[in-house]
Amino acid sequence: MREVRESDPARRAAELRDEIQRHERLYYALGRPEISDRDFDRLMAELAALEASRPELATADSPTRRVGGEPLSGFAPVRHEPPMMSLDNTYNLEELREWGARLDRLAPDMAASGFDFVAELKVDGVSTSLRYEDGLFVQGATRGNGTVGDDVTENLRTVRSLPLRLPPAAPRHLLVRGEVYMPRAEFARVNREREAAGEELYANPRNVTAGSIRQLDSRQVAGRRLAAAVYQIADGPRFASHAESLERMAEWGFPVQDSWRRCHGLAEVEAFIAVWRERRHDLGFETDGVVVKIDDLALRERLGATSKAPRWAVAYKYEPEQAETVVRGILVQVGRTGVLTPVAEFDPVLVAGSTVRRATLHNYEDLSRKDVRVGDTVVIEKAGEVIPRVVEVRLGRRPDASVPFEMPERCPECGEPVVRFEGEVATRCVNPECPAVRQETIRHYVSRNAMDIEGLGDEKIAQLVAAGMLTDLPGLYHLDREALAALAGWGEKSADNLLASLAESRHRPLARLLFALGIRMVGERTAKLLAQHFGSLTALEAASEEELQVVDEIGPKVAASVRAFFADPRQQRRLAALAAAGVEPPPVESPTAASLPLAGKTVVLTGKLASMSREEAAEKLEALGARVAGSVSKKTSFVVAGEDAGSKLDKARDLGIEILDEAGLLLRLGIDKEEAQ
Ligand code: AMP
Ligand code: ZN
Repeated sequence: MREVRESDPARRAAELRDEIQRHERLYYALGRPEISDRDFDRLMAELAALEASRPELATADSPTRRVGGEPLSGFAPVRHEPPMMSLDNTYNLEELREWGARLDRLAPDMAASGFDFVAELKVDGVSTSLRYEDGLFVQGATRGNGTVGDDVTENLRTVRSLPLRLPPAAPRHLLVRGEVYMPRAEFARVNREREAAGEELYANPRNVTAGSIRQLDSRQVAGRRLAAAVYQIADGPRFASHAESLERMAEWGFPVQDSWRRCHGLAEVEAFIAVWRERRHDLGFETDGVVVKIDDLALRERLGATSKAPRWAVAYKYEPEQAETVVRGILVQVGRTGVLTPVAEFDPVLVAGSTVRRATLHNYEDLSRKDVRVGDTVVIEKAGEVIPRVVEVRLGRRPDASVPFEMPERCPECGEPVVRFEGEVATRCVNPECPAVRQETIRHYVSRNAMDIEGLGDEKIAQLVAAGMLTDLPGLYHLDREALAALAGWGEKSADNLLASLAESRHRPLARLLFALGIRMVGERTAKLLAQHFGSLTALEAASEEELQVVDEIGPKVAASVRAFFADPRQQRRLAALAAAGVEPPPVESPTAASLPLAGKTVVLTGKLASMSREEAAEKLEALGARVAGSVSKKTSFVVAGEDAGSKLDKARDLGIEILDEAGLLLRLGIDKEEAQ
């Protein structure tokens, strides 16, 4: 009987985890969610409830571990008064003019003189409502269903461009609406970091923003630099015109886009639309259209709204940023981590303001799912700063003689056989001497967020690698001044600058060095956590997988990857060579108790102890670096069983976990039995 009861929730938890992971990937990486945010939250809530009632079901990599301590269903509801409406869309000038004609019918008295509009760029982000009381930001909410949204105040506080306090000249009570978005550069940075950590890239900035704001994943949210554009006073002082509201909001310190224009008549609106059709691609954020609004606020009130959208405004959507082209070849690139990525080369085509010639096909799995072949007509799309990607293949136009693409069996750069690790989609070249891997390894090491070495751009690295002057990271510190100066395009000044920058890099903080080493799955944030916890390279090198997982946010996969890195003799040689070249990060101030004797151990106490209370025992264990947990799981290092120990003891036996009696505990604590009594 017990077996059945046990296995069902376990199976359900595993199911939920898989399901949630699949939806996360659909949402973040592929940009095509299959379920609503609310349904997603429901899955999370079910899993969290299950794990709360059965802690042993909580795996280290469970998606629930990413929800930063907030209760899951956790966002408090915020009622929107007035409701947050959506906008009617128009997709061409004809539809826009129809909207204009409707206005003429609704307000015939105004029609003769022509309407005044304000045209604004439509920012592609997440709409939010922001409340200020006594000049202070007190509440921020998502749109939700328009009537009720989620209270995401704390997350919105992290948006630097939103004022937390208004100047004295601003009204004391104010409700404004705007769009929170992720700037293109930030999106690119986030994706670069994910790439460096060997993680799948995000599909578009909007989904990442939505996820960040609703903090589905606090680990990822931390350090994201979101921005905002405010475009409406929903409650507060009333001005005669929308233009005046925008001007005032800017004066009060709100981020208001300065691209907005007052337009008399739709012809001027059309001119605005035409100007921004191309120019918008040079902006620091994504726009998918123009919002056209009646400027006169009294007239707005007369026009009113339908149940869904105001009658006084309309969105003009630019044509989607997709284009069709023909694939002429599929080549394979080798990245720093040795991952082979197929890249489609096609006839040059203009999309989103620039000519594109190639698109990564992400990975082999993606490629074969879409089955892109040479000769295929494909639809490509550009999202943010990411290189374009193939959205779909026009199968009806596939040439008869086409053959499916096959990943090469040998690395195109070095000719060594490639490998595909179990459970991984990526195919890799594992030859550390592969020139592509070398070049990318060095490029990552010197990059700004890593060791920040100046004067070594891509071309120069390629030049040094090709000249045989640089084969691996330690070689950087043995570059010869004369030899550098003699290279084409260098000279003494460039050589000196590079050497000075290299010298400085010897004492970069440990976190930077860890990131720079390019350990798989270790991005900037993980590097920081590791540095802070272990304090030195030596301590980190010695850490077991178990000890690594003690670090908050580090799950089994990352732990295994870090361990594998330091266990690899080639990496050991390389680290030794770097140390010999003088690369030595300064010690980290007060690293977490990694050096303590019980660091990395998770202990469970059960039953009564004779020599001390359980609280005392817990304190003593913690002072030696152990973590004391309330329930037994596979991660438990040992269980201390006192008298009358109950189910926890049975569980420990079932799982084959080490069990100590009181004497054993005292021994571990380094306390003499006599002393204790
Ligand atoms: P939709 O979500 O397609 O119905 O479009 C309406 C949404 O566009 C609004 O809820 C806002 O979040 C967003 N939006 C972006 N920029 C603006 C803007 N300048 N004025 C009004 N709404 C905007
Ligand atoms: Zn290779």
